[in-house]
Amino acid sequence: MKRLAVLLPLLLAACAAQPPRAAAPAEPEPPKTPALTYAETNLNATLWAQGTVEHDMSYRGIYAQATRQIAVALKQKDWDALPKNERKKPARGLKPAVIVDVDETVLDNSPYQARLIRDGKEFDEFSWDQWCREQRALPTPGALEFAKAAALKGVTVFYLTNRAQHLNEATLANLRSAGFPVADKENVFLGLGTVVEGCEANGSDKGCRRELIGRRYRVLAMVGDQLGDFIDVDNNTVAARAEATRPYEGWFGERWFMLPNPTYGSWDGAVLGNQRSADAPTKHQIRRDALRTD
Ligand SMILES: [Mg+2]
Repeated sequence: MKRLAVLLPLLLAACAAQPPRAAAPAEPEPPKTPALTYAETNLNATLWAQGTVEHDMSYRGIYAQATRQIAVALKQKDWDALPKNERKKPARGLKPAVIVDVDETVLDNSPYQARLIRDGKEFDEFSWDQWCREQRALPTPGALEFAKAAALKGVTVFYLTNRAQHLNEATLANLRSAGFPVADKENVFLGLGTVVEGCEANGSDKGCRRELIGRRYRVLAMVGDQLGDFIDVDNNTVAARAEATRPYEGWFGERWFMLPNPTYGSWDGAVLGNQRSADAPTKHQIRRDALRTD
């Protein structure tokens, strides 16, 4: 008891010396979304595209179906795969052709994507040019078989790409070394800057170049990994893309063959509201805000 009597005043004094109780902490701010780099956001998509069975069999299945449809289309003399507004001359009686896009359609550039991830970088023209000039892109799964089967049936394969004009030679060399049939007598490689008389191209839209092919050919099938490989869309918004695609929904898997590309594309531009030059945190937030959660 005696000890407590000594301690009690000390304890009371200590309590009295306590600073006033701090106010209740404010509501914590919601955590900020971390601004992921391009490399980080593209890691899974690139891994998927780079050698998974799911990716490879998607490609092979789509190309196998396209090959079967060539045989069907050849027998039906009015069959045509050009968008209706780009078909200016009746297709009947014209020589048969197919149109393929190049990047991620017949050539696999996933090593370039992988390098960007490894180096923590974003796409830029300089590194892209370097990769293209290496001419080391391999054929995508099923592409070579499709192109060869078409050529064997007397169907001309047109390569319609938006690679910059100064990459034409390197791209052609890569296509040839990969084993693709590139007809020598025809101008079957239609890159950016191809002049099409009587047709004013809107930027890199491919419509005029498709129209050019359609002046001399009946198009049996088209293969691509972007909506723009099939139709031009004036306004690259999510809604406008869906609207433009609607009349042709029945053509996918029949005349148009869309390959899956989760690593890049105009779909991302549409999601971003075409704010491609926005800073990384802004772009990341726009993408998150676009997610559907129910
Ligand atoms: Mg492509």
